Amino acid sequence: MSTPENSLCKIYIVDDDDQQANLMQAMAKTIKLETEIYTSSIEFLKAPVNAHDIVILDLQMPEKDGIEIMRELASLNITPSFILVSGFDERVLHSAKQLAESKQLNVVSTLSKPFKAKEFITIIKKTHADCLEKYEQEQNKPLDIKNNNNAASIEELKLALRKHQLVIYFQPQVCFNTGKLHGAEVLVRWQHPEKGILLPDQFIPLAEKHELMNLLTEEILMLAIKEYKTVIASELDVKISINLSAQNVNDLSMPEKLEGLLKYNNIDPNAIVLEITESALMHKVSDSLDILNRLRMKGFSLSIDEFGTGYSSLVKLYQAPFTELKIDKHFILSSVADQDSTAIIKICILLANELKMKTVAEGVESKEISEHLQSLGCSIAQGNYIAKPMPTDEFIQWVKNM
Ligand code: C2E
Ligand code: CA
Repeated sequence: MSTPENSLCKIYIVDDDDQQANLMQAMAKTIKLETEIYTSSIEFLKAPVNAHDIVILDLQMPEKDGIEIMRELASLNITPSFILVSGFDERVLHSAKQLAESKQLNVVSTLSKPFKAKEFITIIKKTHADCLEKYEQEQNKPLDIKNNNNAASIEELKLALRKHQLVIYFQPQVCFNTGKLHGAEVLVRWQHPEKGILLPDQFIPLAEKHELMNLLTEEILMLAIKEYKTVIASELDVKISINLSAQNVNDLSMPEKLEGLLKYNNIDPNAIVLEITESALMHKVSDSLDILNRLRMKGFSLSIDEFGTGYSSLVKLYQAPFTELKIDKHFILSSVADQDSTAIIKICILLANELKMKTVAEGVESKEISEHLQSLGCSIAQGNYIAKPMPTDEFIQWVKNM
């Protein structure tokens, strides 16, 4: 075992093959990066690894293999950046990466043995630079964010609803082929009086846990209707997509309530797309099919959201009258570099075409992704490359400047 001089963002090499480990150490040294070698996985688990370190991890080892090491570190809440190395075929590496990510571990890269020195050096150089940058960013964060004081309580959220602190943003969706505006997704934000704008991930899980989603969705619908009227008044012809959660598709009277609300506000249900995740349809299938069919009959469009991440996707697609399929951004974000993601996207598009549904790619955050998705035949693009979610006045201006 040799000790590194650079103590910030340490690089650990964990490989039972000492020749291979020494080779990696020598390669890292050519770019002045020090590394620490462990040929025993049990010994490595005693090392003081932290979130800013890098672990080059061989998957196949005696004592404990790479998967077990990742599992143990995850259970201890230790989350360094991993570079996975394996002599197995690429699918094993890919699958190990997916497994790690499902445990919130960060796998920055994978390497199939034997690999070229240039490939290894490029990866380790970039990973080390990224880790240093992440470390510096974290040091510069205000103390309340570092301490994760942004977590809200359910009482605060109930108060926020009473005080109407929720706001909605619109994220445009454009047709890949024509570049024209297709619609916009309504995304909720919490304008917290002290903490600033909070994102849905910081309060929707809380609302779901405390069965507050019906109340929250009611508030979002009222806001969406109000803002949509402003959009229409600006003579924009656009559909809007609204997210529903599992608790909303359990209420059998929901289609009638929604229809009544829109009638009262003089809005045509044909202008509304309701987005529902696959996992929201897991329970009480007959009730959710009852609700979805009646929504469709009333003129609403239905989108199956985050497609590919839930369960029994094909069965749900076959049973329910969806008009649109939203390919999960997980696949879109990795599509350019990952052939497996591209394969899944191709199948989603094929399936949607067969079932006469539109396909929406969400997470289009670069020109490369946009061109790739267009070449695969996807119909609608949504993502930061097109435009970030924005308040109504900005959205109207954005469309007018198109
Ligand atoms: P979602 O339905 O998958 O919404 C898309 C999310 O992707 C949004 O995150 C959006 O800001 C983000 N996004 C858009 N373009 C890009 C991109 O190019 N790259 C990346 N990495 N991300 C992009 P947001 O607004 O934080 O919403 C997160 C989730 O919260 C939504 O995921 C949805 O499940 C939920 N959500 C948001 N608004 C509502 C709502 O009004 N009601 C309900 N029930 N859920 C909502
Ligand atoms: Ca959505």
